[in-house]
Amino acid sequence: MVDLIVRGAGVLGLTVAWEAAKRGLKVCISDPNGIASMASGGVVGALAPHVPENWNSKKQFQFQSLINGEEFWNGVDSESGFNSGYARLGRLQPIDDEKALLLARNRLESSEELWRGLAKWRIVESSAPWSLTSGTGKWVFDTLSARINPTDACFSLAKAIQKKGGVFEPHLKKYPNIRTVWATGIHDLERISKFTNVKFRTAVKGQAALFNLNRVDYPQVYANSIHFVPHSNGTFAVGSTSENNFSSSNTTDERLETLIENSMSIIPELRLLEPIKRWADVRPRSESRAPIVGKHPMIEGDYIVNGGFKIGLGMAPELARVLISLIFDGIDQVPEAFKPKVKVQNSTSS
Ligand SMILES: Cc1cc2nc3c(=O)[nH]c(=O)nc-3n(C[C@H](O)[C@H](O)[C@H](O)COP(=O)(O)OP(=O)(O)OC[C@H]3O[C@@H](n4cnc5c(N)ncnc54)[C@H](O)[C@@H]3O)c2cc1C
Repeated sequence: MVDLIVRGAGVLGLTVAWEAAKRGLKVCISDPNGIASMASGGVVGALAPHVPENWNSKKQFQFQSLINGEEFWNGVDSESGFNSGYARLGRLQPIDDEKALLLARNRLESSEELWRGLAKWRIVESSAPWSLTSGTGKWVFDTLSARINPTDACFSLAKAIQKKGGVFEPHLKKYPNIRTVWATGIHDLERISKFTNVKFRTAVKGQAALFNLNRVDYPQVYANSIHFVPHSNGTFAVGSTSENNFSSSNTTDERLETLIENSMSIIPELRLLEPIKRWADVRPRSESRAPIVGKHPMIEGDYIVNGGFKIGLGMAPELARVLISLIFDGIDQVPEAFKPKVKVQNSTSS
């Protein structure tokens, strides 16, 4: 018998399972498709903050999750013996005109209060170690952004969970008396929408590419709405497209080729390289754009964690912490904005 069943072995399910396993609880994870088989099996892995302005509960929650990220991922890797690829090396963003410079200065001021000295938002006059262009000769450098290798991170979590006694059962029947967390991404958003007749899901496809470009110790770059993420294994990710209309979730097309072309004007080294991988999947996005965490809206007694959307990897540690605390301590630290808003009905799950 186990203390907790987690359905879904993406990053959200695995972090929840790990948070429980760390407490000595016996966990079973079930995913018919295997570990990191959907959105979490990607290549980008930018753990990057929202801008320090118009602060709200979601931004504060994400900030806390990013701050906790280092300890969290070091803990996972030290248990598993694997490498999640985590490193907090910061991020550079070009400031291209006077309007952007004014905005960057305002954000610098607000970051001092909002980030409480735990991370810095600076305006710098060099993009070293990169040689990036910028319209003003200035860049924003923040020390909060980190990177992770999404697939490696999921496998590191899985190994760490196993080492704590957790088990993986691809096909698990229903156990109504065992606490269950649904972390099934698009699958759950879709079935809740159907079940309640309330639109709960807006899936957003993303495409990204991976290159063999070894910039292991460089900060990541965000320019022209593209993330450039150097990974610890010597690969370099470029992403992502954002598509509301698509016919296939997993195929790449000319939209990725355009993104790659645009990337080359920012990181010219890419001109000499061919992608070693092209990747696409769908981001689980809730209708409100906020994560969903708390009691499951369809299944009485069960729980849900979902809606990671574009920042699921960065939010995972804090989402898992508050959910496990809600389930096992009865302490509710879930921001109101994250609580599922549709009416709970009695039903059996599918
Ligand atoms: C192109 C792209 C780039 C991204 N870049 C970033 C980034 O740089 N930084 C960032 O923070 N986030 C990023 N994201 C978002 C991030 O990947 C997601 O928010 C996160 O992976 C969602 O994790 P999840 O565990 O909720 O969902 P998924 O990873 O989709 O996992 C859901 C799992 O549930 C399983 N499942 C489905 N049905 C069932 C069932 N009935 N029973 C059991 N299991 C089931 C599936 O097999 C799957 O493994 C990106 C996403 C994409 C697509």
